[in-house]
Amino acid sequence: MTIAHNSSAYDVVVVGAGAAGLSAALSAHEDLHTDGRRGTVALLERATRELRGGNTRWSGAFLRLQDETTPVDGLADYGLAVSQGHASRAYYEALTARVPEAFGWLVAKGVQLVDGPTIFLTASATRYQPVGGGEHIVETLFDAVEQTDIAVHYETSAEHLVTAEDGSVVGVRVRTPDGRLQTLGAGAVILAAGGFQGNPEMMARYCGANAYRIPPISRGGRHNRGDGLRMALEAGAGTEGQFDLFHAEPKDPRSQVAEAVVMTFPYGIVVNTQGQRFIDEGADTVDQTYEKVARGIVRQPGSLAYAVFDQQVMSTPGYEHAVLTDVDPVQADTVADLEAELGMPPGSLVATVEAYNAACPQDRDAYDPLALDGLAATPPGQPAKSNWARPIERGPFFAYPQICANVFTFGGVRTDLEARVLTADGYVIPHLYGAGEMTGLYYEMYAGSTSVMRSVTFGRAAGRHAAAQIPAATGGAR
Ligand SMILES: Cc1cc2nc3c(=O)[nH]c(=O)nc-3n(C[C@H](O)[C@H](O)[C@H](O)COP(=O)(O)OP(=O)(O)OC[C@H]3O[C@@H](n4cnc5c(N)ncnc54)[C@H](O)[C@@H]3O)c2cc1C
Repeated sequence: MTIAHNSSAYDVVVVGAGAAGLSAALSAHEDLHTDGRRGTVALLERATRELRGGNTRWSGAFLRLQDETTPVDGLADYGLAVSQGHASRAYYEALTARVPEAFGWLVAKGVQLVDGPTIFLTASATRYQPVGGGEHIVETLFDAVEQTDIAVHYETSAEHLVTAEDGSVVGVRVRTPDGRLQTLGAGAVILAAGGFQGNPEMMARYCGANAYRIPPISRGGRHNRGDGLRMALEAGAGTEGQFDLFHAEPKDPRSQVAEAVVMTFPYGIVVNTQGQRFIDEGADTVDQTYEKVARGIVRQPGSLAYAVFDQQVMSTPGYEHAVLTDVDPVQADTVADLEAELGMPPGSLVATVEAYNAACPQDRDAYDPLALDGLAATPPGQPAKSNWARPIERGPFFAYPQICANVFTFGGVRTDLEARVLTADGYVIPHLYGAGEMTGLYYEMYAGSTSVMRSVTFGRAAGRHAAAQIPAATGGAR
């Protein structure tokens, strides 16, 4: 392959500047600057400098850790269980084994992790979180990048991989800020360009009908248009992960904040625009339930629902951590007035609440919002509610609109444990790596609080492996 005259060349080119890409670029650069080497790294970011950092920037970035650098016990078993056995055990085991080193590195870079309150008032495992969420990871790692000679190209999108006759990747074609194409030669290309949640055409192709009603949860996702996946597929990559699914969260569509969730829904009821309940809001701890609730909303008329509460919910310990929308709820003194405010058929919500209230247990003392309390109700003609079934009876009553938002897509590129991209037959595509959201892992249900963990861990693995493949003689003058 001849590189065109309007080209530059680097030892390693990283596509995408979220958790995976930043970890990859810094790790590659560090290893290319050991033993007297002075290799070159470029980092491509579609977004502006102000919006840099992809989905990671907008993420709460909860981490399934038991301390700053140790994954929770049984991580692989959990990942396998929620995927109904389809996820790669080898991948989860490698993740478990490598998190201590990768997160030790991250903490040494200045990222502060804390065991603080989460949006989940009941949860299946402990979580750590960067102080200030994913933005803290992005800005701390960019600070480190800016202390190096890593060439950061903002508003620059990779469009195609350049391959040699034998299929090796030797460069990438990029669209520069002036709208022109340029070729960057590369000793290795690391794709870390996120999922395809920001690409309506791919969402419809893979996720099917009504996909247009499932927007990315935040602005970061709009930059993730499946380019990494498409480029890798063009180069012969295989796939993993469930292509028709995505990580779903119920969100308040009126709010522009990064994660406008109302994770108190287990303590109320969730109804559709016809005033009908359609799901068990208290089936399990909220971190195990919210994705099912969000997916259930897609199937309702207009793919819209309402989380309905009475005043009792306000005394839930930690309430303020679980309600992140910044728009006030719709409120009314009676359920009938709330129903009218929400434009529901007359009598519909009233009938639902009356039947639900009548089915709730009398034993109010057993109510415990911070544990699975077993207070169950089975209202006739409605789904059961397995926990926290307490009547909705103390006005004013209020409701938050809820849609299903797309946090990231599940279908992605197949990689090995060194983050090398593999063909469907398992051959390594030489000099091509993939990390983060754009690599396939998840099936059926997201293994909560593992996406940032794996993005950092396998981004770092990709950077280190790519750097190790660059000949020692290379001095940045490719
Ligand atoms: C609101 C919200 C809450 C979340 N909460 C959690 C949580 O608590 N825990 C958790 O683990 N995960 C969470 N996630 C998911 C998690 O943050 C992401 O999946 C993860 O950070 C993805 O990292 P990444 O580096 O793979 O992708 P991203 O951070 O999305 O980075 C992708 C990068 O690629 C760039 N890009 C895309 N295409 C191109 C191209 N063609 N050329 C150049 N650049 C390109 C983008 O601009 C971006 O910089 C959340 C996400 C959101 C949005």
